[in-house]
Amino acid sequence: MIKESIIAIRGQLPPGVKLVAVSKFHPEQAIREAYAAGQRVFGENRPQEFAAKVGALSDLDLEWHFLGHLQTNKLKLVLPYADLVESVDSLHLLDAVQDWGKANGKVLPVLLELHIGAEQTKQGFHEEEVLDILFRAEKYTHIRFCGLMGMASHTDSEADIRADFARIADFKSYLQDLFPELTDFRELSIGMSGDWPLALDYGATIVRIGTAIFGERQY
Ligand SMILES: *Cc1c(COP(=O)(O)O)cnc(C)c1O
Repeated sequence: MIKESIIAIRGQLPPGVKLVAVSKFHPEQAIREAYAAGQRVFGENRPQEFAAKVGALSDLDLEWHFLGHLQTNKLKLVLPYADLVESVDSLHLLDAVQDWGKANGKVLPVLLELHIGAEQTKQGFHEEEVLDILFRAEKYTHIRFCGLMGMASHTDSEADIRADFARIADFKSYLQDLFPELTDFRELSIGMSGDWPLALDYGATIVRIGTAIFGERQY
């Protein structure tokens, strides 16, 4: 089931689009099964679980993405191991990641999470905040700005989802034009189990898929 799902999804991804298998709430064994099907990139959203899985699976050559809300008192569970932090969603967190990187001699690759969905509660920056940060990008000596992440509205309306994806895709192109010196700023992480085929129409470079690979999560 895991293997078949990965093969089916991969078969539909254009070359250059990275599949992140979101393994949160699923056991180590599920990740090993995905690995056996050729999957190498995994995503987790809780610091404790992230660190535990990184440790338990250190015999495999995996790429780890962190994609959940990260409190600044949990940085040490995540930053030593994350190949990409996809979910930097506040200035407070960004500054803390910069400070951690400086103290630990590490440059952290991050995506800035843009608030795109209709939900009020959703995390993420507004466009003006992203602009303010990138205008001061050189101040962040220990951050590598790699692009944007976003979660579309949780809805059955394809038009609403497309509108969310169009907005983040347009904003990303605008930023690339405005800040050509940020040569790493090229990732657009959009698309989850319910909407990833649509995300491809808007230039997704990363899709983050959990349920469609591993099945429903047992919370
Ligand atoms: C859980 C999660 C996903 C995967 O969600 P599915 O609907 O199970 O594919 C993707 N992105 C983020 C940020 C998540 O927290």
